[in-house]
Amino acid sequence: MLSNAQNIHQLHKEIAKCTRCPLHLTRIKAVLPEGNTSSKLMMIAQSPGKVENSTGRMFTGPSGKIFDELLNEAGVSRSDFYLTNLIKCMLVKSRDPSREQWDACTPWLIREIELIKPKVIIPLGFQATKFVLRYLGIPRPPGKSYRILFGNFIKTEKYLIFPLRHPTALLFDPGKREVMTENYKKLKRLKVER
Ligand code: SF4
Repeated sequence: MLSNAQNIHQLHKEIAKCTRCPLHLTRIKAVLPEGNTSSKLMMIAQSPGKVENSTGRMFTGPSGKIFDELLNEAGVSRSDFYLTNLIKCMLVKSRDPSREQWDACTPWLIREIELIKPKVIIPLGFQATKFVLRYLGIPRPPGKSYRILFGNFIKTEKYLIFPLRHPTALLFDPGKREVMTENYKKLKRLKVER
């Protein structure tokens, strides 16, 4: 019987060669989860960008630079988290995943949650937050009011959910920097408590 670490490693190998949706035809590399597989803090980003598609590594493009700055300012590092994406291959036509891509790829994420057994789930951005709420059967605030979730904790029986804005948001709106920095600083508290 495989250990949990071996099961996680095996899962990552399966993701690397996944052909469940047409994105496998346009990707260079599926971007595998990384970070600390023993961490109980699971961070879920949306999907790889162009740079990540080439490197096969999470957060290696412009949003990765911002991501590291936000973590540094918060006093935490990538190795404090298990990092993964909602969609593992680069989206080509839209910044949001289609229903088909969502249905094909999220079973990988559900399997990751089952294996990692996080205590805290930190979705980055709207799509990842939508997934976590749907997965846990939590109603989503209507329309754009979902934004009130960012930077606030949601306690469930099994998990603490802490939605944050995706670092990419700062590429489009640098004015959000101050509030995002303050929200990311709350990650330090999670690191200490867990
Ligand atoms: S996006 Fe997900 S489901 Fe589609 S090919 Fe990549 S890993 Fe497989």
